[in-house]
Amino acid sequence: MVVLGILPRFSSTKKGFILAKRRPFVAGNWKLNGTRQSVVELASTICVGPIPENIDVLLCPSAVHIGDVLGVVGNSAVHLGAQNCALHKAGAFTGEVAADMLAEFGCEYVIVGHSERRALFGEDSAHVAGKCVAVQQAGLIPILCVGETLEERQAGQVDSVIGEQLDALLSLAGVAAFSRLVVAYEPVWAIGTGETASPEQAQAVHALIREKIAKLDSDIASSLQILYGGSVKPDNASTLFSQQDIDGGLIGGAALDAESFLTICAAAELSEAS
Ligand code: PEP
Repeated sequence: MVVLGILPRFSSTKKGFILAKRRPFVAGNWKLNGTRQSVVELASTICVGPIPENIDVLLCPSAVHIGDVLGVVGNSAVHLGAQNCALHKAGAFTGEVAADMLAEFGCEYVIVGHSERRALFGEDSAHVAGKCVAVQQAGLIPILCVGETLEERQAGQVDSVIGEQLDALLSLAGVAAFSRLVVAYEPVWAIGTGETASPEQAQAVHALIREKIAKLDSDIASSLQILYGGSVKPDNASTLFSQQDIDGGLIGGAALDAESFLTICAAAELSEAS
């Protein structure tokens, strides 16, 4: 269960500065990696930590490794999540895994609409929005990924691309859907490339996302956790996380190394204290 922290963070909206209560959040997306043995070892080392008390830490193994990792994170402070789920609850959908099934295996979160799902598996924003609703109906929390390609950024389309990705869920389920949801801003050009958005570039998009939600509901906007993803590493995490609208990170490559991941968690803890 996500418990929103009590330490304040300030965020700008069109209505001016408002008090927000957001815990830093670091999520590891292990993608299509690992064996039963290696993921258990990785999760075990991460659980030994130290895991800072004032942040949320999440591990997202491949679907078939979820049961093994559950056995490790069990009663620890580390949360368990999935990388994807089906749009549907049940039925003739060969190869799919429903959100309810993930809930039964101890998952609390599901990454939805990762750019790899959008680009490689043809998931458009309407499909992604439907999955967010399916995740919430199963009692889980979606991590909704949004982000622009390099071509879209160069064409000055960042606002419209992110806007369209958020609008699909707003049209389907209204702003209330954002009260039990995490957004991850992941510029496609920064994922797995070693290219990172500058802290200023990332902050600008995070502020844009929060302002869009704030126009509909300022309370939901001020408590919305917005993560940055795209080549976050131990050496750039602190400056990214110190931005006022960046509440942590969705980590790919660096999440496969326990020491790097724990260093990034420590950076998130420090960002909360500053
Ligand atoms: C990701 O896949 O969500 C991601 C951010 O990957 P990386 O950290 O490797 O860029």
